[in-house]
Amino acid sequence: MAIRQIRFSDDSILRKKSREINEINDRINILLEDMAETMYKNDGVGLAAPQVGVLRNVIVIDVGQGLIKLINPKIIESDGENIDFEGCLSIPGISGKVKRPERVKIKYLDLSGEEKELEGTGLLARAMCHEIDHLNGILFTDKTIKDE
Ligand code: ZN
Repeated sequence: MAIRQIRFSDDSILRKKSREINEINDRINILLEDMAETMYKNDGVGLAAPQVGVLRNVIVIDVGQGLIKLINPKIIESDGENIDFEGCLSIPGISGKVKRPERVKIKYLDLSGEEKELEGTGLLARAMCHEIDHLNGILFTDKTIKDE
């Protein structure tokens, strides 16, 4: 495993769309291992592949309930509203309020290529939305609510 270099918000790779994974091979497994290590090393709760310079649809999340590795994650249901502060390892020192759904359900592939579903509320829902946004080139600062 290895710590990967985090890309910061002036890097145009963070604005590009990531590609779907068709084959889960050793490279993808190593990428996910490295992403988890990089996330923990930087005290993050989530990391998306573009943040380490790889335009593939994979994210890792740990909001304190254990490590989750998600391949090709897609939101299939969402409801409610939750406004809270958010930050990003690619935008150090900045936080802002973002409105996210209170609950989301996603589908994804696990490491064996099996399609699974995962439901989350609160911080887990927020982390899933934030990281999936990264796969579409969207940063939380695009969505920050300005105080009046
Ligand atoms: Zn982020």
